Amino acid sequence: MIAPVLESEVIVIGAGVVGLAVAAELARGGREVTVLEREGGIGRGTSSRNSGVMHGGLYYPPKSLKAATCVEGRELSYARASKWGVAHRKTGKLIVAVSEDEVPSLEAIARRAGEAGVHLEHLDGAQLRKRDPALSGVAALYSPESGIIDVHGLIESYRAEARQHGAEVVLHTRVVGIDPANDGLVVATENDRGEGEELRGRWVINAAGLDADHVAALAGLDIDALGYRLAPSKGDYFVLSSEAPRPRTALVYPVPAGPGLGVHLTIDLGGRCVAGPDATFVEDRGSYGIDENKAVAFAEAVARYLPGVRREHLTPDYAGIRPRLAGPGMPFRDFVIEEATPHGAPGLVNLLGIESPGLTAAPAIAMRVAALIL
Ligand SMILES: Cc1cc2nc3c(=O)[nH]c(=O)nc-3n(C[C@H](O)[C@H](O)[C@H](O)COP(=O)(O)OP(=O)(O)OC[C@H]3O[C@@H](n4cnc5c(N)ncnc54)[C@H](O)[C@@H]3O)c2cc1C
Repeated sequence: MIAPVLESEVIVIGAGVVGLAVAAELARGGREVTVLEREGGIGRGTSSRNSGVMHGGLYYPPKSLKAATCVEGRELSYARASKWGVAHRKTGKLIVAVSEDEVPSLEAIARRAGEAGVHLEHLDGAQLRKRDPALSGVAALYSPESGIIDVHGLIESYRAEARQHGAEVVLHTRVVGIDPANDGLVVATENDRGEGEELRGRWVINAAGLDADHVAALAGLDIDALGYRLAPSKGDYFVLSSEAPRPRTALVYPVPAGPGLGVHLTIDLGGRCVAGPDATFVEDRGSYGIDENKAVAFAEAVARYLPGVRREHLTPDYAGIRPRLAGPGMPFRDFVIEEATPHGAPGLVNLLGIESPGLTAAPAIAMRVAALIL
């Protein structure tokens, strides 16, 4: 006998912050939603391996999805945090130029932010020292809207809202196939014991984070031809000991010089001062070990703007891996938020390359997904 096929109007693949924000948005809008997650808990991927920063939206090209969803998502996330009792603090953030030759790059950030409608304060060296005597630099930008948030609380609030509106979140369930069906798609799943089941959905939302390219390939997309193969970029974090110098400002960033935002400092809600992440392209998407010898380079990077930080102050802490679309040396790539009819998979919505500022942008990404599925 053929096993009966279960149905759900919308199937979301991945219970990270993005998948759960999408589930909450769609369920609130009256959709029947099932979230499938291969792990035994929610938010165990990149969503729990980041800086926990609500970004101001300073770094992205104006009119890009990253810029727009960051600015919208930041406001939505702060409002959500207040409503749902998620701990957060609008701490403000400094970007510090340590030498005159970094000032043009700092000014470029300010121009770009201005074009994206983001307000920043300009500080000279004396004003910087007055605001934060521990820091050293010749100029700085201050973003008053940036802040920090309890990431787990935020993720949990999306799950709670999705459930409140009838969504189901099914754990231990890996998506292993996606095939076209009458007016929708059939998703094949496997549980931890290797047992299979099928679920038919009118819409399937691919929010699989670091595996979103593989999931798109399951639906028959040629991810290489489309430029959708992800180039994972690992970022390590070190925690500073209580003996290390400490800034007054909770978020201190250098002027970015490479593919990431540069090794920055975050004083988290628990009062820990964490340095990172750096950025290294990796093959292995699941390896989170940290080479403790990197402490030397981290100490040097931080000491440029926070003098007195030494290698002995740093202990390896955690790592995260960015699901980047732009590989080594490639120019800016925006988030991909698209319905896949042009690629032969009607009903599939792909969320690809949701790296930073994805945590901040999640509710705005969710609104765009809702607008795609009519
Ligand atoms: C080092 C680092 C620092 C960052 N800092 C910030 C920051 O400060 N602020 C900010 O806004 N953003 C930040 N980000 C970005 C942010 O963390 C991500 O954009 C966001 O977490 C992405 O969430 P997601 O739900 O798309 O992915 P994930 O959290 O990875 O969720 C995807 C889920 O899909 C599941 N999955 C995958 N394949 C399958 C399958 N076949 N079947 C079932 N389930 C599957 C996974 O298990 C996972 O739970 C940072 C990222 C990194 C790496």
